[in-house]
Amino acid sequence: MAKLTPMMEQYMKIKAEYKDAFLFYRLGDFYELFYEDAIDAARELEITLTKRGGGKGESEIPMCGVPHHSAENYIKTLIEKGYKVAICEQVEDPKTAKGVVKREVVQLITPGTVMESNMLKEGENNYIASLSHFKDGSYVIAYNDLSTGENYLALISGGWDSVIHELFNQPIREIVISSNLPEEMQHQLKERLNITLSFQDEVTFSAEYRSLSENLNDERLMKAFSRLLNYIQDTQKRSLDHLQPAEVIRLKDHLSLDMYSKRNLELTETIIKKGKHGSLLWVLDKTATAMGSRMLKKWLERPLLDRNQIEARLEAVEGFYRGFMERDTLREVLRSVYDLERLAGRIAFGNVNARDLIQLKVSLEKIPELKNTLEQFQVKELSNLAEQLVYPEYLVGLLDASLVENPPMSIKEGSIIKTGYNETLDSYRDASKNGKTWIAELEQKEREETNIKSLKIGYNRVFGYYIEVTKANIHLLPEGRYERKQTLTNAERYITPELKEKEVLILEAEEKSVDLEYTLFIEIREKIKKHIPELQQLADVVSNIDVLQGFATVSEENNYKRPRFGNSSLMIKNGRHPVVERVMKDGSFVPNDISLDEDKHILLITGPNMSGKSTYMRQLALTAIMGQIGCFVPCEEADLIIFDQIFTRIGAADDLVSGQSTFMVEMLEAKHAIANATDRSLILLDEIGRGTSTYDGMALAQAIVEYIHNNIHAKTLFSTHYHELTALEDSLSNLKNIHVRAEENEGTVVFLHQIKEGAADQSYGIHVAKLAELPDALIERASVILQQLESDDKPTPNTEKIEAGQLSFFVEDKVPVKNDKQPKLAKQHTVVTELKDLNLFELTPLEAMNELYRLQKMVKQ
Ligand code: ADP
Ligand code: MG
Repeated sequence: MAKLTPMMEQYMKIKAEYKDAFLFYRLGDFYELFYEDAIDAARELEITLTKRGGGKGESEIPMCGVPHHSAENYIKTLIEKGYKVAICEQVEDPKTAKGVVKREVVQLITPGTVMESNMLKEGENNYIASLSHFKDGSYVIAYNDLSTGENYLALISGGWDSVIHELFNQPIREIVISSNLPEEMQHQLKERLNITLSFQDEVTFSAEYRSLSENLNDERLMKAFSRLLNYIQDTQKRSLDHLQPAEVIRLKDHLSLDMYSKRNLELTETIIKKGKHGSLLWVLDKTATAMGSRMLKKWLERPLLDRNQIEARLEAVEGFYRGFMERDTLREVLRSVYDLERLAGRIAFGNVNARDLIQLKVSLEKIPELKNTLEQFQVKELSNLAEQLVYPEYLVGLLDASLVENPPMSIKEGSIIKTGYNETLDSYRDASKNGKTWIAELEQKEREETNIKSLKIGYNRVFGYYIEVTKANIHLLPEGRYERKQTLTNAERYITPELKEKEVLILEAEEKSVDLEYTLFIEIREKIKKHIPELQQLADVVSNIDVLQGFATVSEENNYKRPRFGNSSLMIKNGRHPVVERVMKDGSFVPNDISLDEDKHILLITGPNMSGKSTYMRQLALTAIMGQIGCFVPCEEADLIIFDQIFTRIGAADDLVSGQSTFMVEMLEAKHAIANATDRSLILLDEIGRGTSTYDGMALAQAIVEYIHNNIHAKTLFSTHYHELTALEDSLSNLKNIHVRAEENEGTVVFLHQIKEGAADQSYGIHVAKLAELPDALIERASVILQQLESDDKPTPNTEKIEAGQLSFFVEDKVPVKNDKQPKLAKQHTVVTELKDLNLFELTPLEAMNELYRLQKMVKQ
C-alpha cells in the first residue's frame, strides 16, 4: 500500500481510537471527515462528498467537511440520529508548528452525554444507562442524567424480559454495556429500543465514587455504577462534581407496568404518532417548570404502592385544589423559576455565562415568595414542603454583589462585574475613566487654543487615540503642534506624546480589568459549585411542588375527584376516560360505573364494535394509575384499590420492529400477564384470540379466563366478540357479564356507550360496516351471509353454503367508470377500492375470510 501523507497518517492513528464515532478532524476553518465517515456523514447531513489525494500513488480519499463556526447544528443532527461525534482540534499554533500540527480529540459527544441546551429537550430527562449482567442471572441497570446529575440504580432479578420492560419507553439515549453481552441482547437494545450502544469492558472502582455510592451495599450495584462512571469519565474528561449520590430504585415499591402496558395505555406517548399529544402525560402536564415536567414523567413511570405516600400526595393536591387563588399566585412564581437542576449541571461542567448566573439569582430570589405562598394554603403537607425549601441566602448575596443585571453573553470581554465588588478592578476602572476624562479635557483645551471648533479626539483599534482636524481647518494649526499619523480624504489625524502616554495607561487598565473580570467570574462560579447539592435539593422540592400543583390544576379544570383507598373492593361512579373525554366535544363523553370485588372480580364485556369496550377498559387502568401517582381521578366518586401490577392486551398494532405477528404479540402479552399477575393485579384482555381462527381463538380465550378465575384471582376485564363466552357466567362464579348498549334504529346502529349488566344480544358488525359507508350491495350480501351462518350452528363458515353468485356485487352503473367500454377494469377497480377501505382491525377472522373469498370471486368472474 502506498504511503499516506503525514497528515493522513495522523488522522488514521486518531481515528483508530474512535472507531464508533464520526471523527471531526480540524483543518483550518473546517472540520473534515474522511473515508467511511465522509460517505456516511455526507448522506446523513446531506452535504457534498468530495475527494482528496492521500499521498503519492494513493487513490483518492472520500472527504466532506463542515465549517467550524456552524458545526454545532451538524453535530446536533448526528447526535439526534443516535451517532457519536469526536471533536479533534489542533492543539498547537499552526504558524509555529514544525511538521504536522498536533491534534487531539478534546471531546467525545454522545447522545447520552450531551450538555448543550439546544440538544436537550426541556421537559425530558436525557439518560445514559449502563447494564451489567451477573452469573446468578440478575441484571443491574444504572441510570445517569448528566444534565441534571441524577443517578439511579435498579436491580433486576426477573431475567432479560424484565430488563426490556424496565428500559422500554424511558428517555435513554445511550447504554454502556460489556462486549460480552450476547449479540441477540445487544441487537434488541439497539434495534428494538433504539438506544445507542457503547462499550466499557474494564470496570474499575475509583475512590472518587465513594461519596456517590455510600448507600450501595451490593457489589453488583457497585459494578454497574462504576461501569457507567468509568465511561462518563473516559469520554467527558471534565468535572463531574454535580453528580448526585446514586438512588436505588426498589422496583417492588412501585406499581409495575410492563412494556406492553406502558405502550398500550399510551402513558407518555401515543402508539402511532410516538408523540406526547394524546397521551395521559399530555392531559396531566400542567406543570409550570421544565423540572416539574420531568418529575411528572418519572412519577408516571413509577406509580406508588404505599398508601401513606399516596395519601400524602393527595392531601397536598387537595390543599392546592381548594386554594385556587393562592395556586394562581404560586404558578406565577413557579413560572419565573428557571431550570435549577440543569443550571447546576452546567455550573459544574463550566459552561455557564454571566447571564445564566443572573437567571440563577432571579430564580433563587423567588424562594422566599414561594415559601410564603405555600404557607398561605394553611395545609400541613404544604407547610412541610415550604420547610424543605432552604433559601440559599449566601448565593443570592454573592450573585447580587458581583454581577451586573444585564451582562453580555461573553465572559471574556468584561462588563459583567459590578463596581464595588473588587478593589483592584475598581482601581483599573478608575484609571481608565480618569484617562478618558483627561482626554475629554484635552479635546476642550485644544479646541480653544487652536480655535478649531470641529477638532475632535477619536479612537480606533489600529491607531489608538488620535486628534482629528478636517482639511478645511488644517491651515489654522500651528506648525509642529502635532505629529501626523494618518491622512483621510477630508481630514488629517495626529497624535502627541502625551496622548500616547495616556493611551497606554487607559488600554493597560482596560486589558487588566477585562482579564480580572474573567478571573473573578471563574472564582464566583467555583464558589457556587460548592453549593450544587443545595441547588439540587431545592430543584427537587420545587419540582415536587410543581407536579402537585399541576395535579390540582388539571383536577380542577377537568372536574376530577379525590379517590379513596382502603377498601378491598373497587367502585367508580360515573368514570370517564381522561384522554378521550379531552379530545371529544365538551360533555359528549358518556360516563360509566364500574365495580369489582372479591366475589365478582372478572367482568366479561360484550358489545358491538365501536361501542366503547376498549375505552371502558383503558379508562379503569388510567384511573388506577392516576390515583396511584397521587392525582385526582375522572369520575364522580371512587373507591380504588392499590394494584401491584397492571397488565394489558389491547389494540391490534403489530409489533413491527420485533417482527412478530399480531397473534404472537397477543400470546406474549397474555403469557406475561398470567405468569406475573397476583390477586392484587389488574389485567385487561381486549378481544383476545382475535388473531387466529374462530375455534382456536375462542378456545384460547375461554381457557385464559378460566385460568385467571381459578388460579390468579386478579381483577380482570375481558372483552370479547365471541358471544358464546358469555355462557361462562354460569360456570365461573366470580365472573359477571356486562355489555355496552347499542340500539338499532331503522337498520342503523346507534351507540349509546353505556355499560349495562348482562350480555349483549347481537354483534352489529354489519351495521358498523354500514356506518363506514361500505357499498350497499356489499352490506346486503353480508346480511345474507350472516343469516346463513346464524341458521347454522357452527361458527366456522361452510364455504359451500356461501354462494357468491346469487347477488351481483358490483352493480356496474353504480361504479364510477370513466370508460364504460372496459367493465373488467372497472371491476378490478372496485376490488381495489374495497380492499383499501377494509378496516382489518375491525373484522373478525371469519368476516375477513368471507371478505377475501368474495373479493377473489369478483376478480375471477
Ligand atoms: P370498541 O372497543 O367497543 O370497538 P372503542 O372503545 O374503541 O370501541 O370506542 C370507539 C369510539 O367510541 C371511541 O373512539 C370514542 O370516540 C367513542 N366512545 C367510546 N366510549 C365512549 C363514551 N363512553 N362516551 C362517548 N364516546 C365514546
Ligand atoms: Mg376495541
